Amino acid sequence: MTPPQKEMEPVPDDWERALAIVAHPDDMEYGAAGAVAHWTARGKRVTYLLVTRGETGIDALDPHECARVREAEERASAAIVGVDTVEFLDHADGLIEYGLPLRADLALAIRRHRPEVIVTLNHRETWGGGRLNMADHRHVGLAALDAARDAANRWLFRPPDGPDAWSGTRFALIAGSPDASHFVDVSDDLERAIASLEAHARYLEHVGTDARELLTSIAEQVGKSSGVRYATSFELVSL
Ligand SMILES: [Zn+2]
Repeated sequence: MTPPQKEMEPVPDDWERALAIVAHPDDMEYGAAGAVAHWTARGKRVTYLLVTRGETGIDALDPHECARVREAEERASAAIVGVDTVEFLDHADGLIEYGLPLRADLALAIRRHRPEVIVTLNHRETWGGGRLNMADHRHVGLAALDAARDAANRWLFRPPDGPDAWSGTRFALIAGSPDASHFVDVSDDLERAIASLEAHARYLEHVGTDARELLTSIAEQVGKSSGVRYATSFELVSL
């Protein structure tokens, strides 16, 4: 493993509202949910916006049944880390297109929720180390960053009776980025992070992941480069 280029800095915590925008049920739960647990325990409000219901993610389940299972798993998972609002946009799982319809949906959601912080998943082509990222993640991550800017421009995306423009988003936090720059100390939040991933029981059975082992080893590794016991990392992009 190559050492970090520079010291990791703590994610600023002088904000009240965050909106997490990701493609699939479980995308928040591979690390970012630990930070969400940390924030909600300190009175911050975090809302989840899922672009799909993950309906093509389990080979043994047909998409209709799979959507039902994974939506329920995501709601349970969110509740464990203090998130009570989970919205779904119903783009097609596995086939999410980057484009104006997605940017419009995300910009209008940002205007409705008025977040100071946007959390999303890695939009880059790889996770680092030559491990290929997935099209859905690339498209949603990039569209979330672009939509933060779109939301601030009142001349873009103007449905009748739509929400007012919102220019108060200060920065985006990108989970799973190969260019991580910031960390959240999750030393007191790891158990809830693990429980939030374990809530995806049907999905984990399909992929064969041990949630505790995986999240603990990642949090330990990030903790080492952040000077704390357990941490989760983000790339911070100023908006
Ligand atoms: Zn995903």
